[in-house]
Amino acid sequence: MLGVLGGGLIDPTTPLLRADDLGVLRGDAVFETIRLHEGRLDALDAHLGRLVRSAAALGLPDPDLTAWRALVDEVVAGWGERGEAMLRLVLTRGVEGGPPTAFALIAPVPGSTLAARRDGVRVVTLSRGVSSTAHDDSPWLLGGAKTTSYAVNMAAQRYAQALGSDDVIFVSTDGLVLEAPTATVVWAIGETLHTPPTTVGILDGTTVHTLFDHAGAHGFATAVTTTTVAGLHAADAVWLVSSVRGAVAVTAIDGTERGDGGLTARVQSAAGLKAVK
Ligand code: PLP
Repeated sequence: MLGVLGGGLIDPTTPLLRADDLGVLRGDAVFETIRLHEGRLDALDAHLGRLVRSAAALGLPDPDLTAWRALVDEVVAGWGERGEAMLRLVLTRGVEGGPPTAFALIAPVPGSTLAARRDGVRVVTLSRGVSSTAHDDSPWLLGGAKTTSYAVNMAAQRYAQALGSDDVIFVSTDGLVLEAPTATVVWAIGETLHTPPTTVGILDGTTVHTLFDHAGAHGFATAVTTTTVAGLHAADAVWLVSSVRGAVAVTAIDGTERGDGGLTARVQSAAGLKAVK
């Protein structure tokens, strides 16, 4: 299901972007990925808020949220009862001189995502090549903006897969755990859930907010704090947390197998995902 801002629903196979769209040529674009299940979208307001912040970071025109909400309603209604899905909102700079290209696309959740929820993922830790303070006075690094410039993140995942793992946890040059290429890192020490502060230059994840908001009701305390790879090894459980995957247990770090302390089902329900085990 594909919808264009100001243009309504179109056939998803219709060519939409011009070849000289700067989103294509330079990755000069922002996006959101939102989980749709049982006819409702998770944390839509939080996603739209981040879309606005990401657009501001790139100097794109302020997204018209009334128009975006109308488009979202239209594509979700068009999707109907076809089951769990992922909704992508994409806003590119458009061709030189504008206007931006804006569209919403719904697709089924990939089988690999469903498998990761059920089976967990093996990760390797890889350097992101920047320090945890690099973003402090370098706004051009776009810390916290969800841009479509994910080639580096995808390359890191392919590197991990070549090593026999599934995914990556990025580490700063000063040794702090950052985030995964498409997820926030969460770990448990006892019954306290931890995640790094966004000040280390990572995306402000919507799912970790949902998880931490509901943690208390599921018997967890929460803490925002830095850690190292050694800290992850010492933790009772580690998860990768993101909108469509929910909370995925990390089953090995750099080849060292690890358990989840039997906590994953509770963490998945606190993250808004029904337990899958
Ligand atoms: N960090 C990065 C780099 C991401 O790409 C994502 C999601 O795609 C996240 C964290 C998690 O964000 P959210 O929970 O809003 O999906």
